[in-house]
Amino acid sequence: MAQNTPSLRVFASPGRYVQGRGAMERLGSLVGGVGSRPLVLTDDVVRGLVGATLERSFAEVGVPLIFERFGGVPTRTESERVGEVIRSQDHDVIVGLGGGAAIDAAKAAGANAGVPWVSAATVASTDAPTSALSVVYTEKGAFESYRFYDRNPALVVVDTQLVAQAPTRFLAAGVGDALATWIEARALRGTDATNMVEGRPTRAGTALARLSWDILWESALPALDAVDHDLVTPDVEAVVEATTLLSGLGFESGGLAAAHAVHDGLTAVDETHHLAHGEKVNIGSLTQLLLEGAPTSEVEEFAEFTARAGLPTTLTEAGLGKADDALLDRVVAAATAPEETIHNLPFTPSHRDVRDALRAVEGVGRRVRRRAGLGEPRAPKG
Ligand SMILES: [Zn+2]
Repeated sequence: MAQNTPSLRVFASPGRYVQGRGAMERLGSLVGGVGSRPLVLTDDVVRGLVGATLERSFAEVGVPLIFERFGGVPTRTESERVGEVIRSQDHDVIVGLGGGAAIDAAKAAGANAGVPWVSAATVASTDAPTSALSVVYTEKGAFESYRFYDRNPALVVVDTQLVAQAPTRFLAAGVGDALATWIEARALRGTDATNMVEGRPTRAGTALARLSWDILWESALPALDAVDHDLVTPDVEAVVEATTLLSGLGFESGGLAAAHAVHDGLTAVDETHHLAHGEKVNIGSLTQLLLEGAPTSEVEEFAEFTARAGLPTTLTEAGLGKADDALLDRVVAAATAPEETIHNLPFTPSHRDVRDALRAVEGVGRRVRRRAGLGEPRAPKG
């Protein structure tokens, strides 16, 4: 992390956060408060899902609705292309509509074109929507780098009815991403490590990470049951706030550590590409707990809870059940690269320490699954 003035504490947040059932019906007036010529970046699937709602919502307030088709992966090329569309058509705000990938691409395109950006989330699979950073991926979907901006989204809108209608696996991935936030933020407490906005963590950032964690332990499992049946319950509302707003503020201002670094490492090998961001992060959380030497009861409780949430807790499920040391070394090399957040840990694990912790996830995950009656872990097909 950049360390310009490490003694300063920094907290960042989006200008406004709006969440609830049917929130997309209000997107026109909300976006109209940010700009008068928005460009909406989304893929065909999401457009098919909410296009008619947005037509109505934008027409009601007289804001033009212009879509741009998102290429699917937030690469450097894609954000440059969309930035050029914004410039050439004189748009004054870009809306990333969909999941983390479209939202990340919209942030980058907005920054390229010098206009504000809005996150309009239809799923709660990551905590990307609120933050002032995006992940740049290669064409093949591997982590390339973090890109930092000098501001957060002007507006974040999350429609919980759409979240409930999306596949349950998406919300489960959001739970995995958000649980990591506290595991990582607490590792930075009392250290000089920097958060994701180039400052030391504030009490607020760290406390929100903890609040997210507490909500998830209370409400994640009933929320996932509800979403299985497309229902929006108070548990769903609480979990969406935890995975999107609280985890977003918590990771950005509280700081990241090993869980996300291991995630980034996992993206470096094709074997894990079937997993969503939050699913890979869950392997990272377990790795960090083992690396820290967390109490066995805590590690096992975490493994069981996340397995019950449908998250991967073994290398087998991550496609790495048969991985040799050379393959895991590639993961670890990427996870321990100089710019990685693993260096925010209050100790310095060796390459071998990280590889052993990652390897040890398999045994813990299997033992806990067996004990909880969850069966043997399954390797991905193909
Ligand atoms: Zn994440």
